[in-house]
This record gives sequence, structure tokens and C-alpha cells, in this order.
Amino acid sequence: MPARVVAVALPLPVQTTFTYRVPEALPWPERGARVVVPFGTRRIVGMVTGPAADDPALSLKDVLDVVDEAPLATPPLLDLAAWLADHYLAPPGECYRLVLPPGGIRASRAVARLSGEAAGEAGDPVVAALAGGPLPVSTLARRLEGDPTSRLSRLRREGRVVVDQDLGAAGFRLVQVATLADEVAPPTGKAAQQEVVSRLRAAGGRARVSDLVRDRPSLRGAVTRLAEAGLVRLHDERDTRGPEMLPAEAAAVHPPTADQQAALAPLLAAVEARRFEPFLLHGITGSGKTEVYFRAAERALGQGRGVIVLVPEIALTPLLVRAALARFGATVTVLHSELAAGERHDQWWRIREGEARVVVGARSAVFAPVGELGLVVVDEEHESAYKQEESPRYHARDVAVMRARMEGATVVLGSATPSLESHVNADKGKYTRLVLPARIGVRGLPKVDVVDRREAMKAGADPMLTPPLREALEERLRRGEQALLLLNRRGYATSLLCRECGQSASCPNCSVLVTVHQAGRTAQCHYCGFQSQAPRACAFCQGEYLRLTGYGTEKVVEAVKAALPKARVDRLDRDRASRRGEAARVLAAFGAGETDILVGTQLIAKGHDFPRVTLVGVVDADVGLGLPDFRAAERTFQLLTQVAGRAGRADLAGEVILQSHLPDHYALRLACAQDYAGFFAREMEFRRTMAYPPAVALINVILRSREAVAASQDAQALAARLRALAAGRYRVLGPARAPLARLKQEHRFQVLLKGGRASMRAAVKKALVERFGEVRWPGVAVDVDPLSVM
Ligand code: ADP
Ligand code: ZN
Repeated sequence: MPARVVAVALPLPVQTTFTYRVPEALPWPERGARVVVPFGTRRIVGMVTGPAADDPALSLKDVLDVVDEAPLATPPLLDLAAWLADHYLAPPGECYRLVLPPGGIRASRAVARLSGEAAGEAGDPVVAALAGGPLPVSTLARRLEGDPTSRLSRLRREGRVVVDQDLGAAGFRLVQVATLADEVAPPTGKAAQQEVVSRLRAAGGRARVSDLVRDRPSLRGAVTRLAEAGLVRLHDERDTRGPEMLPAEAAAVHPPTADQQAALAPLLAAVEARRFEPFLLHGITGSGKTEVYFRAAERALGQGRGVIVLVPEIALTPLLVRAALARFGATVTVLHSELAAGERHDQWWRIREGEARVVVGARSAVFAPVGELGLVVVDEEHESAYKQEESPRYHARDVAVMRARMEGATVVLGSATPSLESHVNADKGKYTRLVLPARIGVRGLPKVDVVDRREAMKAGADPMLTPPLREALEERLRRGEQALLLLNRRGYATSLLCRECGQSASCPNCSVLVTVHQAGRTAQCHYCGFQSQAPRACAFCQGEYLRLTGYGTEKVVEAVKAALPKARVDRLDRDRASRRGEAARVLAAFGAGETDILVGTQLIAKGHDFPRVTLVGVVDADVGLGLPDFRAAERTFQLLTQVAGRAGRADLAGEVILQSHLPDHYALRLACAQDYAGFFAREMEFRRTMAYPPAVALINVILRSREAVAASQDAQALAARLRALAAGRYRVLGPARAPLARLKQEHRFQVLLKGGRASMRAAVKKALVERFGEVRWPGVAVDVDPLSVM
């Protein structure tokens, strides 16, 4: 007889699964089912990842109970989680958590109750425990200390105890629904009861009790009396909580243009054939990519399959979300980061049960439990928001392609400025390239001017608001048009400089300067969230002559208001958007023309459509170019191209003004010319020469510790071992202090590998296991395909 042994992933930051024996008395748990297991002195709920080999040399512990016999997650998603753990060298428990219902492994509770046949077992501890009413299985397991053979399971098999998923406890909310019995003659003389009956009739014989009595709570008693009289039936139903979705007006569906048709033909053919095929849809801003996504989605839905549409951030893509609601109606669910826990939970189950078949969401929606996946869309595929910067450090675009491959789905990556990675994959034929070369309904591209800020400074003008930009703003005000002002730096001032000793105030936890907010009142660290009153004296020399230097969005607002007192100015950045719904409100007010000038960070650069915006000003186009980051030029090019695309979308011509200290930088020049091909060629040359992705793969291993010596020693040992294992298949750089040398009170060292991904991954794993063991790698962060190496 084969051994009854399973591997179990535990919700802990450990690198391995654990093996347990399943006692004969328990049902066999499927892969994806939860089990209660002993771990040290604790009992915890884990998830079975599959059968495991028995090892007689080890004395395996027993599974204490099987919570679900059937898996919560679908088998393809379990495969995806396993791939994630392997590909990113991430803790399996953290990866499986992504495919489980929100709340993870502990989310829904199995509850045991006595069936009718349990009488006469007075002495049985399970029966005794349940005599007082149903109990969660996990509570029972705790109470049955010293009963390792799991009496509960025997009772279950004998039919004396029943285990259900407790909907209430699982996070569902129940609502009471009233149904009118057939042939009701409302009791005469009882006005309240007659009122309830007539309300129910008006509602078609059935309604939620809370809706029935909303305007007259006193009717509730009448509902109860009608139920007692058998004239109305009451029962509980599962509620589905969701965000208030705008009743989207059905928008006119345009017949596709010739370009759209050409892009659609191969895409629809792949969907039709239920074939895994990745497409790169390279379409400039305003070229009508959304319509292409939606037509492909309709085809997949028509086959009875589901669709996932990923966007970098929901709040910033109101157009796409609204268009999806209008097009697909009640089958759409939008997974917001702003959803309350209950809403998130209910939407997960709507998807799992097939009620919602189009899922629009950010990064983590790539794990939505859509059954029979037909199509995955990754809009703005180049966006760094798709990379999760904490464990598991996955990239949702890459996960989307892998998921589509595992499930035989078609996948479309769309962008006006594709990542170099995706462009190379299309060149190599790994992705099929589709092109939308022209903007729809717009006369050409906006005119772009670069203003050299050094000239403005020499002439004694304000380099933050140079004369050309200021004049252009004034002209917009006169004409009743709108302007966007981009500065990708929030806060008021970028540093607080001591004029006596020349030092700037820095974060106590990190090796970075603090940013000053609200015109000098608070100091914040943008890396760890540290916040304090802005200091009044220098921490180094106690000098009191402190000066605010550098500027962020808050100061730009101040300067614009001073220069143009009549202008209505608003701001959108991460600080402003931290309140629920605030980003949408700011954008809506701007869209409605209540604001003339909107100042903001990259949050204003994305998929908005403001027909009266005829000017986009970039206050400092060089932000980001100075960072020690090999993607600095790519990010700048993408951001400037995107933001320039925001000008002049309708019948009004657009103008773009970029202020820069480096007007000859190729990222700026080529963004002005909207020359993607030129940028790609130039940037690839740099990546090849310097050996950066996509010319090679990278793995960055970061070692963190409160003690600099400890982290440095680990880094040295690791680098030495990785060099010994390299055999020419990759190069090892470092160890070195990370550019962000201290973060959240920890010192950071890094070892950077360049070469072939598979051999690097195997070597990193081997070296880490040798140094730290199989289970836990304390203070180690492995970043496979890092977006930046800071
Ligand atoms: P992108 O996502 O490529 O930036 P959008 O999908 O937002 O572009 O489309 C730009 C504009 O063109 C939108 O206002 C959209 O309604 C319009 N549009 C798209 N396809 C068509 C079409 N076939 N005919 C007319 N207008 C279209
Ligand atoms: Zn900090």
C-alpha cells in the first residue's frame, strides 16, 4: 500500500514545504485542501501541495485533521503558485496564499455539527464538545488535545458528525429575504401587514427585508407576524458586497478601423483556436487599444471562457474601467486596492463561482480564480507597478504569460512604449507583434518644445516656472483651456540644508534625505514612512540657519498660484491619493472643468482623456535620470512619451513643454520626437555594452542586518561561493553596499549576478542552502529579474 504522506505549505516565511503522514482514520486530502498540522508546539492550518515520498528514516508527524477534502484553489492556479515559488525562489506558503481566497489560508472556516444520529455517544469527547452547538473544526482540534487519531474523522465517516463550510464565519454576509406565499389574502384590518404584502407584490413577490422596511423600520414587526402566520417565508441568502459601480451608460461601440482590424485578425484567430499565444500590441497613445482588448474579450466570453484585464492601478484608469462596465455589465468585477475586506472576499467568490467572468484589476488580479481562462490583457505592460517589491517578488506581466501558457489562454500585452524585454521578445518571435501606428480622430502628434533651464537661470528667471511655460499657462487661462503640470516628486522641498555645516537632514532609519512637506511643517522619509516635525536646528551642528532646497509638487502649486492668482489649481500625488476615492474626485473635478491646472506626479500621466487639455508642462524632465538605476533612461522616456500623449486628444491641437537641465539627453530628445524605434536601438546598445537586461538576466541577492558586519560577512561568503559555482555561465558583481545602503534600520549589501537565469537561480539556491540551510534564509531577499538594483 502506498504511504499516506503529503507535502504541506505553511503560512510562514520558510523556503520549504513540510511532510506529514495522513492517518488511516482521516480522508485523503486533495492537493489544495487545508489540513491542521502540528508545528513545534503549535497547531496550524496549512495547505496540501501534493503527495510526498515517505522517508522511514524520519519520524513524520501526523496530520491532525483535514479541513477541506476538495481544494479551494483550482488546479491550474495551484500549478501557477508552485511555479512562482520555484521561479522566484520564494517561500511556498507566501505563493500559495496568492491563489487562496482573500485572508489566505485561514479565510473560510469548516464547522462541525452533530447529525441526527449522534445520540447515545454520551462518553465521546467530540460528541460532548458539539452537544452545545456547532464548533469550528480548528477549535475542536485544539480542544481534543491528546486525541491524535482524530475521533472527529471517524465520526464523520460514520455519518454522525457533519462538517460544512460556515458561510458566516467564512466571511460571507447573510441577508434575510422575504418571499410571499402563493395566494395570500392579506389579513384585513392590519394596515402594517397589508402594507408589507403590497410592497412585496410590487417587488415581484420577493425582496430583502432590509429593503422592504428601509423607509419605515416599524414595518419589521409586521414582517415577523406575517412569517409566523405562514403568509411570508423568510430565509437567509448570501449577500454579495461590492463597490458602488456607476451604472455605466452603454457606450456606442465603434466599428474597428482598418488598423484595429489588422491587429484583431491574428488575435481573434488565437482566441478562436483556444491557443496559448502571447501578443505584443504596440499602439501609440490614443490609437484605440482598448477596443482591440474588448473585441478579443467578447470572443472569449462567447466561448464561455473568462477574461482578466490587468491595469497598473485602478484609480488611474477610470476610462478603461468605465468602458469595461459599459461593455460587459454585470459580468465584470473590478478588484480595487480600495475594496474593503468583505467586498474583496465576496468578489473573489463571485469569480470562483463563475458569476463574474471579466475581472479588471491591478497586479494581484493575475491570480483571480477565473475558471476556463480564455484571455489575459496586460494594459500598459511596461509599468513598474506590475512588479511586486516584497516577497514573493513577482512581475505580473511575466506571471500573466505563464498563467496563460498553463491554461491554454491567449495573452495580450499592450503599450505605447513597450518594455525593452517585450520588444525583444517580439523581435525574437516569442511574442506576435501587433501595431496600431496612428491616433484615432486627432490631427497628428502634439508639438513639443524643450526649455533649457540653465538658460533661464542665467537670465535670472525662475527655473521652476520658466517664462515660456508661464506664458503658455497664461494663454490657456485666457482661452479657457486646461493644462497638466507634471513633476515626478511629491512634497514641498527635497531637503532641509544647514547653511552652517552644509549637512542635510536625513532619515534616522535609512540612508536617504528627508522630504519636507506642507511648506516646512513635517519631514518624511519616502522609503520607510518615518515622519516628524521638520527640525528647527541641524542635527549635526545645532545650527539654526536651515534652508529648504529642491522642490516637489506642493511647492509647484504654490508657485503657480502666486504667478497666476486667478487660476484654479489642484494637485494629485501619492499624498493626496492616500484617502479613499480622493484620486477619482480630483480627476473628476478636472474632467468637469472645475480646475484649470492640475499639478501632479506620474499619477496624472496615465490613461485619462481630458479633451480640453491643450498644454502639458513637464516641470523637471530630468527627475529620475540621476538615479543609479540602469532603467533610468527607459523610465524617463516612457513617462515623457505618455504624458506628451495627454495633450490635444480631441479637436484642439496640443502643445508640450519640457523643462530640463539636460536637453540633449537621448531619452528626452527621442521622447520629444515620439521615436520609440530610435530609443529602443540606442538603449539596447547601452544594455548590451553594460550587460543589463534584456541583454542578460539579473538576480540580485540582498543581505540585510542591523549589524553591518553580519550582513557584510554573509555577502562576502555568498559572493565567493557563487563565483566558485559560476563556471563561466554568469558573472558575479560585489559584494557591495547597496545604493540604498541603509533601509528601515538595516544595513544592506548586495551580490548581483548577470548571465543565464536558470543557472544563476540554481547556483543561488545551492549557495543559500549551504550557508543557511533548507528552511529559513534570515535577512536574505532574492530578487529574480529585478526592476532596479537599488
Ligand atoms: P489607447 O488605449 O490606445 O490610448 P483608446 O483605446 O483610449 O486608446 O482610444 C482612443 C480614443 O479613440 C477613445 O476615445 C476611443 O473611444 C476612440 N476609438 C477607439 N476605437 C475607435 C474606432 N474604431 N472608431 C472611432 N473611435 C474609436
Ligand atoms: Zn527612512
